[in-house]
Amino acid sequence: MLLFVWSLILTYGLYSPTTAGLPDHFRVAGLFEPEHVAQELAFKAAIEKMNLHQVVGSSRMIVYHVEHTTAHDSFEANKEVCRQMKEGIAAVFGPITKIPRAHVQSICNSYEIPHLNAQWDARDSNDYYSISVYPEYNKLSQAYANLLKHWGWTRFTVIYEDDDGLLRLQEVLKATKESEQKITVRRLDPFQNTYITMFKDLKEKGEYHIIVDCDVNKVQPLLHEALKVNMLSELYHFHFTTLDLDIVNLEDYKYSGANITAMRLIDPSRKEVREVIQDFINLSDNGNQPTPLERGQYLRTEVALMYDAVHLFAKALSELTVAQQFETVGLSCNKKQTWQYGNSLLNYMKSMEVKGLSGDIICEKGKRTDFNLDIIELSQSGLRKIGYWEPKEGVKITKSFKDRRKETNEKLNNTTLRIVTVYDPPYLTLKKNPEGKGPTHEGFIVDLLDLIKSRLGFNYTIYEVADKKYGSEVNGVWNGMIGDLLKRDPKEKADMAAAGMTITYEREKILDFTKPFLNLGITVVYKKPTKAPPELFSFSSPLSIDVWIYMVAAYLCVSFMLFVIARFSPYEWTNPHPCNEDSDLVENQFTICNSLWFTIGSLMQQGCEIAPRAISTRIVACIWWFFTLIMISSYTANLAAFLTVERMVSPIESVDDLAKQTKIKYGTLNSGTTRAFFENSDIQTYKTMANFMNNNPNATFVESNTDGFARANNSDYAFIAESTTIDYQVQRMCKLKQIGGLLDSKGYGLAFPKDSPWTDAISREIIFLQENQDIQKIYNKWWKEKSGGKCDVDDQKKDASSLGVKHVGGVFVVLVGGLVAGLFIACLEFMWKARKNAKKDKQSFCSEMSEELRFAIKCFGGSNNATRRVASKEIVDNGVQFTPMIPIPNNRNQRELYA
Ligand code: GLU
Repeated sequence: MLLFVWSLILTYGLYSPTTAGLPDHFRVAGLFEPEHVAQELAFKAAIEKMNLHQVVGSSRMIVYHVEHTTAHDSFEANKEVCRQMKEGIAAVFGPITKIPRAHVQSICNSYEIPHLNAQWDARDSNDYYSISVYPEYNKLSQAYANLLKHWGWTRFTVIYEDDDGLLRLQEVLKATKESEQKITVRRLDPFQNTYITMFKDLKEKGEYHIIVDCDVNKVQPLLHEALKVNMLSELYHFHFTTLDLDIVNLEDYKYSGANITAMRLIDPSRKEVREVIQDFINLSDNGNQPTPLERGQYLRTEVALMYDAVHLFAKALSELTVAQQFETVGLSCNKKQTWQYGNSLLNYMKSMEVKGLSGDIICEKGKRTDFNLDIIELSQSGLRKIGYWEPKEGVKITKSFKDRRKETNEKLNNTTLRIVTVYDPPYLTLKKNPEGKGPTHEGFIVDLLDLIKSRLGFNYTIYEVADKKYGSEVNGVWNGMIGDLLKRDPKEKADMAAAGMTITYEREKILDFTKPFLNLGITVVYKKPTKAPPELFSFSSPLSIDVWIYMVAAYLCVSFMLFVIARFSPYEWTNPHPCNEDSDLVENQFTICNSLWFTIGSLMQQGCEIAPRAISTRIVACIWWFFTLIMISSYTANLAAFLTVERMVSPIESVDDLAKQTKIKYGTLNSGTTRAFFENSDIQTYKTMANFMNNNPNATFVESNTDGFARANNSDYAFIAESTTIDYQVQRMCKLKQIGGLLDSKGYGLAFPKDSPWTDAISREIIFLQENQDIQKIYNKWWKEKSGGKCDVDDQKKDASSLGVKHVGGVFVVLVGGLVAGLFIACLEFMWKARKNAKKDKQSFCSEMSEELRFAIKCFGGSNNATRRVASKEIVDNGVQFTPMIPIPNNRNQRELYA
């Protein structure tokens, strides 16, 4: 306490120096306008504090002399500084207003008296024998530019108040030239006290990133007017260049949702800062507690910097006094004189590093280029630091991802989202029988929204877009739901579009989409194939034409083989009159006609009065019977299938079939991604289809998916739509069927206006619901369970097709094998009997064989039916007698031979 009183005595000049030779106090001048009383108080409080802490030394004090000058009056400021110089001063502080300050700096420069400045100044302080503790204007401008770059603003508006504002933002404006940023610059009209027209205009132009350079006292009125035109929603971002946003009352805007940010040099919540502010208040004239407004003035950056300037000066003075003996001298403005220690003192200040209220004060070359700034943001709990800027690292956001997520979730919890949609089943429709006050909408999307809502806790209202369109760009303007998402007026704009909305590149450029919740592709829906009319010769259908031809060939071949084998086989030659054992007639029943009759009889499953006797012919007969058994069974089975299954015929089987014809009309939704798919395609088929559709818009495009399916169901029209919608409709409209595969692959997402804060949170929930299979469950509910399996029966019918050679080829192979075996056995039989007869007739085997062979060949040439009169040497063919050409064996041999 004693020390404090002592310091007061010294400070106010109540004490007169006593120590001879050595100055016990240093006089400093302060020039302040009455409007800047806070700076004056800071100046005084700082000096008192320095003296109290004996910064300059235990026996030396700083003594201040304050002159009150009129704002903007350079003459008065000059006069006062000259008066002070006469007394001998070590430094000058102030004045605050720009022009008088420049004059005072100039005088200080001439007399080599250090000048300390705590105001923003674009002039190079190095030229003015001056030290500025205010951040250097170029560096500060760099900080704004870095921040805008960090946020990725490519289009924004600059609102400034005076020319200094443009200087403050020069790095921002320079960056715009270098990159592709689009910038609108507006000046606040000093003669107008309302900015509503300006904000309305900006809103209409879709400007939602705004950087404002104005006096801190104008921040609140500006925000107030922006609020009036609904520009303070979460889509807008206002960044203020003032370093004093902390002193603005932002209570009314905390819950608006708008992003309001700024940077600051001094954190008013820091203990040292609060203590120093209290000192200012204690020093204030009335001694009463200041009003919040007054308190705000003490919190201004420039006020705190005045304190830091005194601090820097005191430290430098202390260093200089340690280094050398020096004193202040009275100087006259009328003489060309300088203070010889001024330069040393200034150099000390430039080379020192002092910890002040605004951080480390380093003023190399008289400018403060090394400083840190906090990045602050308005949240529901007030302004808070979200990161910092520093010259080397640039912008660093320290707000963790977790904090941001938590904050968004909290905000979302209190939000009612306005959701735009298009009524389109099964995604979202009006409820048919709404119960009382219950929900009025239903559908897959409603269930999805409810699931997300149950996890994030927001509320929503749903409305249908006026034009009932999904959205496409027509002459540069988006219609449908997208048009509503692009609107900026909170009363008209939608916060989210929830429908079967396809994620596309063009849309993603102007909107934000969540991750896809359903995957799909474009495909065609058309009537199911119609039943083919019954054919006259449909009985032939079970076997293919090849098989029929092979069967006829097999029939002829087997008949002939049977005839030949029967000729060769001696056991097929029999006595036609068995009772007459002496008969010398032998007969072969397998004439050509009989062979044909025998085989056809068995093929028709009817049998025949003749039967083979020799092993060889029996083998052939058996194999033929086996063949007919298989063939007839296969035919019968396949015929049954043909008669029960009605064959279907479809004129189009794929999208290429559609493109190749013009008889069947086809089309898409008139305003959606399917139409855009065809119009933007480079593939010839799709281009042709796009031309066809555009040339017949009335016959091709439909207003809604429901119309499209109805048209496909009721007329000869193929509707091209998305597979999920088609899957749903074909289960209800049983006449319709998907034709061909998918033409592309894409997904549906929930859409938000660009930079919407909700996209990430909702996107995350969609992934969660997908992993949890909740989305699959609601998909099954709407696509499968609700259809009731109405059209399933039809799909189970399968088409029947003719049996081909590959189905029955094996049986032909067996038949050929049988024939070969029969022929072989017949040869053996023939040779066996020839050998026996040769012995009996005492002939050689070869002559007997050749005789028999000649006879057989002879019979081939004659007739199909043959009898041989062995005794009379006559051969009877079908009862007609003729004389044989070859000698007939004798009766006994012959009988024996053929017995
Ligand atoms: N889902 C489409 C869209 O988002 C609409 C339907 C379509 O074009 O087939 O535009």
